[in-house]
Amino acid sequence: MATYKTVKRECLIDFLKSHSKYSFTIREIAAEMSSDNTIRSVPSESTVYRLMREMEREGTVRRYIDPKNREYVYCLADNDDIPVNMRCKVCGNVYTVDGETSRRIKEEIINCGAAVPADSIDFLVKCRNCSQ
Ligand SMILES: [Zn+2]
Repeated sequence: MATYKTVKRECLIDFLKSHSKYSFTIREIAAEMSSDNTIRSVPSESTVYRLMREMEREGTVRRYIDPKNREYVYCLADNDDIPVNMRCKVCGNVYTVDGETSRRIKEEIINCGAAVPADSIDFLVKCRNCSQ
């Protein structure tokens, strides 16, 4: 099912990006966002809850149990370690995409409302040798 981009969702992702070193409970996210008057559209607690569950399913955010108080906390998923590969349709050679490009590809995937797979992202291409 497609996920639609909404202003509230974008604001929520922006918030998580600017606090990417921290994990928050749903209540904390809603409270922090409503106290920040630079945020264009502040989602209610129930909307934060719905959006976070949705983004958890896509792999955009991860959910943990905070060992201190046994509450669920959320943070942006760190997709940096997931490789982006180009596999040649003809000869089967695999080429790894460099860090900056692969980061942009993952950002685009998430911006489209799709999920970054947990193992790897693979593109089918025709490599330089095979296209000659
Ligand atoms: Zn090839």
